[in-house]
Amino acid sequence: VSERKRAGILCVGTELTEGIIRDGHVGFLGSHLTSMGLTVSRAVFVPDDPRLLHSTFAEETARSDIVIIAGGLGPTSDDLTREIAAEVAGEPLVFHDDEWLLLQKRFAGRKLSETNRKQAMAPRGFSLIRNPNGTAPGFHGMIGETLVIALPGPPHELQPMFLQSVIPLLEAFAGSSVSLEVLWGTALMVAESNLEEAFQRIRIAGLSWGTRVEEDRIVFSVRGGGAADRETFMKICADSLGALRIRRGDVKPAKLLMDALLSRETTLVSAESCTGGLVGKWLTDIPGSSRAYWGGYITYSNPAKEHALGVDARLISDHGAVSGEVVTAMAQGALEKSGADVSVAISGIAGPDGGTPEKPVGTVWIAVCGLHMQSTARVFSFPGGRDMVRRRAAVTAMLLAEARIRGEEFLDTFAKW
Ligand code: ATP
Repeated sequence: VSERKRAGILCVGTELTEGIIRDGHVGFLGSHLTSMGLTVSRAVFVPDDPRLLHSTFAEETARSDIVIIAGGLGPTSDDLTREIAAEVAGEPLVFHDDEWLLLQKRFAGRKLSETNRKQAMAPRGFSLIRNPNGTAPGFHGMIGETLVIALPGPPHELQPMFLQSVIPLLEAFAGSSVSLEVLWGTALMVAESNLEEAFQRIRIAGLSWGTRVEEDRIVFSVRGGGAADRETFMKICADSLGALRIRRGDVKPAKLLMDALLSRETTLVSAESCTGGLVGKWLTDIPGSSRAYWGGYITYSNPAKEHALGVDARLISDHGAVSGEVVTAMAQGALEKSGADVSVAISGIAGPDGGTPEKPVGTVWIAVCGLHMQSTARVFSFPGGRDMVRRRAAVTAMLLAEARIRGEEFLDTFAKW
């Protein structure tokens, strides 16, 4: 078994160290590198300061087998990555005519400034990495025994370049110590720490995993071993966390709900209180969703629940807006007023205020009603701040609706998330 190769990540930019922008690379790169079987030994943020960048980059190339440096490839004078890489490599920067021609062709009609010429340069002996989504190509080459890979800063440029061009480079460099065969999965309604614990309990030699936390799900990849080992990993995971929570592939909850609706030619209406339209937002992120999504009501105040959905004011005063009675009346009202086939309603206390001992912050009622189904109302208790409670409520509502549309049971354990 070959030894695991060590990778270092350098993110360049004063915007990052000053907290003007939030890093989006370490999570992405770290999870991919780890799931390929590489060890990420550290990730460092460096401002646009030539001396600091030089010393950090030189140190990282000396201690790691692979260095990925992100950012600082733009045309302006504070973009230093190219120059520093050349200095540390001890090579001059050379101009790549073919890349310059390609850039000019792609930007036909628009003006490329002379400073953009800088972007067609790389240290001698290095190769360029094409950037389909921007002007700055990346580059890769060896400094001593270390593979150096430079990528542009914007995530929508870096990520496709990594997936298309860098993964094959890493495989060629690290050989049998990295694994490209991968099984992708999505974990829903699971906290990151619980997922990690579940993964750690599965002991199958040779497998490694990586996770990427998104606002509505956790995407994971399992690498190494044989195909059968990866399938077994997936099965054990689904057995321990529940088949509703562990899905194959990278799938958004809104897409799962949309697929359930489309496959049954069913239409959905939403009635949202504490989530303020998040379910509608996620559903309408999907192009063509009007085929199955009727639309929704954002009934945040009590009068809105009464006037838009016909919820009885007495029901609200007797039980409170966050109750099984009211959330069911919201779902029934939305169903009747819209004429859709299925409705989902959400009413909860997202915080930070409004909690009581009986109904603390995080208490959320969700109801699903339908013309041909028994209505369901369930109460959940979500941890976290306002934003997290709202996201968890919206995800859970979509998955509760999906399960009911598919005629599946939604297990009690799901209340704890
Ligand atoms: P460009 O050619 O677009 O200037 P670049 O390689 O020079 O690319 P930077 O100038 O360092 O990249 O950063 C450009 C933009 O990319 C930043 O303003 C920021 O929006 C985004 N960006 C850079 N680094 C990160 C990071 N670590 N996480 C998220 N976004 C980043």
